[in-house]
Amino acid sequence: MRIVALAGGIGGARFLRGLRELTGPQDEITVIGNTGDDIHLFGLKVCPDLDTVMYTLGGGIHEEQGWGRADETWSVKEEMKAYGVGPDWFGLGDRDFATHIVRTQMLAAGYPLSAVTEALCARWQPGVRLLPMSDDRVETHVRITEDGAPRVVHFQEYWVRLHAAVDAEAIIAVGADTAKPAPGVLEAIAAADVILLPPSNPVVSIGTILGVPGIRQAVASAAAPVVGLSPIIGGAPVRGMADKVLAAVGVEASAEAVALDYGSELLDGWLVDTTDAAAVETVEAAGIACRAVPLLMTDVAATAGMARAALELAEQVRA
Ligand code: GDP
Ligand code: CA
Repeated sequence: MRIVALAGGIGGARFLRGLRELTGPQDEITVIGNTGDDIHLFGLKVCPDLDTVMYTLGGGIHEEQGWGRADETWSVKEEMKAYGVGPDWFGLGDRDFATHIVRTQMLAAGYPLSAVTEALCARWQPGVRLLPMSDDRVETHVRITEDGAPRVVHFQEYWVRLHAAVDAEAIIAVGADTAKPAPGVLEAIAAADVILLPPSNPVVSIGTILGVPGIRQAVASAAAPVVGLSPIIGGAPVRGMADKVLAAVGVEASAEAVALDYGSELLDGWLVDTTDAAAVETVEAAGIACRAVPLLMTDVAATAGMARAALELAEQVRA
């Protein structure tokens, strides 16, 4: 089976680990990763979501944190601080730095991000084909009000430095309007047997990927069924601050509102948590097949169960 999944960071990566557990070597998983979170720090190109997927599936992730490397040390960060060179709010450990150095070096030599990602994955062997959504630079920015004045900050500054504590007033994907899907992205979508939307952030992860011209259209018109899993359980994100960015785009933080926002032209099926069983009727009334199943990724086995439910729903809507 050819499976295509769109993915952000933690939510996407953990789901993919469950999906990979369920599938075999005869299956082919292509992951289209969000690069809207990418940021240049200390002269280095950092791709947080691609790296979270790569480290998680490659066995190098810091499990509890969900991002960054296991067994990390922080000497470079301390040295930068001693020089008074920031930013100090973004955690880049020594091991992680190496990834960004390799990436930056290859980009400077003229390789596109897709080729760089493939080269990094040659080490990590994630068991999926990981493609950035685009080789072109797209950066998610967030409009906030600070000290009574409007200000636009990089998404990482909003999320990591400000902890999404102030309201997000608008989400702007800078560069998205002229970005092109990376090589292989549209081809993978067109050839897919199933397309999955993991429980990633619907606005700044999946939404950003779908915002690359051509991708939403390709997913919506693909022959394959499209099934998504709700990142919202019981009216709140399981982890992180997705409610803040949902509010910025005028969508309520609920399993059904996220499904309706994706819409029936995109989604064929939607999974909500058993807590949200009452949402099933509303989602189905909107023309999207919906089931309530446990959606907490407590361990790989539970997550594989979610992946199985998603593939089963895909078969049902295909019929
Ligand atoms: P990020 O880029 O690291 O923020 O990660 P993603 O965009 O891939 O995923 C973030 C989303 O994952 C958040 O909105 C969370 O609500 C969701 N999430 C995290 N853990 C779980 C879980 O166990 N179950 C479900 N359903 N969603 C989860
Ligand atoms: Ca992210």
